Amino acid sequence: MWREESATDVLCWRAAPHLRPVTFNRRQEGHVGADWLWWFVDADTGRAFGMLCQAKNLKRSAGGWSIGYGQSNSQGSQLTALLRSAGSLDLPAVYVLYCGPPSHRRDLSCGPSHTAPQCPRCARAGVSVLSALAAEYLHSYGDADRAATDSYRTCVPLEDLTVSGRCGPLLDPWFGVCPPTVRRFLTQPQYGSAEVAKQLLRQLLSFSRGYLFDEGQKLQSLPPDAVFPAVPQVAGHFSESVTSHVLRGLRREAPNYVWAALEGLNLTTRDLPTEVSEGAAGLIVTRLRNADPSG
Ligand SMILES: [Zn+2]
Repeated sequence: MWREESATDVLCWRAAPHLRPVTFNRRQEGHVGADWLWWFVDADTGRAFGMLCQAKNLKRSAGGWSIGYGQSNSQGSQLTALLRSAGSLDLPAVYVLYCGPPSHRRDLSCGPSHTAPQCPRCARAGVSVLSALAAEYLHSYGDADRAATDSYRTCVPLEDLTVSGRCGPLLDPWFGVCPPTVRRFLTQPQYGSAEVAKQLLRQLLSFSRGYLFDEGQKLQSLPPDAVFPAVPQVAGHFSESVTSHVLRGLRREAPNYVWAALEGLNLTTRDLPTEVSEGAAGLIVTRLRNADPSG
């Protein structure tokens, strides 16, 4: 078993071996909301998607599997702090799950399409991403093993997140209120940063089994530099609207501190907006070179 403290290093190395994360805060228990802030920036347009990340290990325990969503410190619940920090950054929050090598989870199924003894999806799932809203909902079961196994089935392998057009059309049941640009995003193939956003949204909508679509009659405004000025408000099982939670992270352009990191500048907390230096311990920027498949 690996140490929890090393999970961030392992994840950064596995996820982006050519990138060095910029660390601007010593990780101090309770003082920082998350492990790191991750921005995906499209090389062709500068469009970007940001998400606030917490690293977790999928662990085998006496009672089955666990991920440790219930951890807390003197400042309160880690999950609540993560969502609060994401709220002040106007970004979505995710867990980056280190699930270990396939041999660690030989008896764990990824769902109906699982194939034994070798499963392509399980082979890719070593580092995977789960929306913190999904984690919060699964944690509310009060059953750590079930929350962990359902998290494993729901999470997206990191290497799949940026594959152009991987996410098929999402239903657009919000006719009459859904702006045409949002409808096109939902129903047409995406690439780069928009594909990352769409896969996270699909993950959350997969919990709905249809009934979320009774909602969405109201539009919610997003930050001024968001790609979509407003999106249908859809909460369902979750503590906030999933559409606005995810799509507030998709921006027409990355913030200045992200460009500074891409230029190799050495960022310190003084160079960063307060909500960034207080919300995360470090920054990772991935430049996506995927060309628009339609262009
Ligand atoms: Zn599988």
